[in-house]
Amino acid sequence: MLKTLPPGATIGILGGGQLGRMTALAAARLGYRCHIYCPEAGAPASQVTSLTTIADYSDQAALADFAAAVDVVTYEFENVPFVAAETLARHVPVRPGPEVLRICQNRLREKDFCREAGVPTARFAPIGSARDLHERVAEFGRPCVLKTAELGYDGKGQIAIGRDTDLDAAWARAAEAAAPAGMILEEFVDFRLEISVIVARGLDGTRRTYVPVENQHKHHILDQTIVPARVSEKVTDKAKGIARHLAEKIGLAGLLAIEMFITADERVLVNELAPRPHNSGHWTLDAAVTSQFEQLVRAIAGLPLGAPDRLADAVMKNLLGDEAAAALAAWSDPNEKLHLYGKSEARPGRKMGHTTKLIRR
Ligand code: AMP
Repeated sequence: MLKTLPPGATIGILGGGQLGRMTALAAARLGYRCHIYCPEAGAPASQVTSLTTIADYSDQAALADFAAAVDVVTYEFENVPFVAAETLARHVPVRPGPEVLRICQNRLREKDFCREAGVPTARFAPIGSARDLHERVAEFGRPCVLKTAELGYDGKGQIAIGRDTDLDAAWARAAEAAAPAGMILEEFVDFRLEISVIVARGLDGTRRTYVPVENQHKHHILDQTIVPARVSEKVTDKAKGIARHLAEKIGLAGLLAIEMFITADERVLVNELAPRPHNSGHWTLDAAVTSQFEQLVRAIAGLPLGAPDRLADAVMKNLLGDEAAAALAAWSDPNEKLHLYGKSEARPGRKMGHTTKLIRR
């Protein structure tokens, strides 16, 4: 029997960042409380909720207390230790489930999973030694990309292997960064553009997919998302089909964001999966019938999913470091929505907020 979370129930969120903050705001509108679990005080999500456990993710006693205090657990980033999710899952539903987290935490498992699901990715291989690296680079050809299997994000833990790259030196650098999860080598994809698709799956197995959006990066960090992506109907259908298929195969309860490369000949290759709300889905707060955050809450609470339809075209822009204060000071466009995350320290490169410009016809 499907159990719907009753009004006043508490959603536990692992992680205190902006994704948790925006999820908590959506949960509050539906009458739910949120309890944040994160290692630092004053986190963006804690500012909008009354309950926070400040503890390390390996603190067994704190995890047990948290499990007893909440009705369901979700997470807002995928680098929560797998054992923490597994421990919690013994006491309380964790959605998406720990197995989803395990797959999405590791690029090799992610790509193996796609391969088993029959979904195309760039060619890849695990790399465990300098010799592996020599062999596989010879096989894939240059350029290619060496990545840490775990804990890499926003381009961190990546080494580009170009025409003149010394492989032994690259391996020495990589081995330092990668231990103990290992490395993955990927063929270089000469993509035309990068897109992402967010799919939700409810407890009853219903799936809803947002329109593919186009992501432009600066220094490996998402800069802008253009809604919808400038791709053909064929690519749109293919990308949405992949998202729906992966959501089913992985047994999703919640959200899955899928980053994909689109090549000039319209191939769609999966690059990365994230089992949570995604930066490229922020536009849905202002330009979709149901935001990705509300959709997550509905999915994990056993509520019916909302329509993912787009109400307007949009351009979402991340505000990094000092850009947030500057955007607030210069805010004048009535069709631009501004979101700030409440972070006190505007370090360079830190995501402080975003704007969504609505393009209405
Ligand atoms: P990732 O950390 O895998 O999301 O990679 C960050 C960015 O590096 C991607 O958004 C791409 O722009 C680029 N990139 C990653 N993998 C590849 C690849 N195999 N071929 C070409 N570009 C890549």
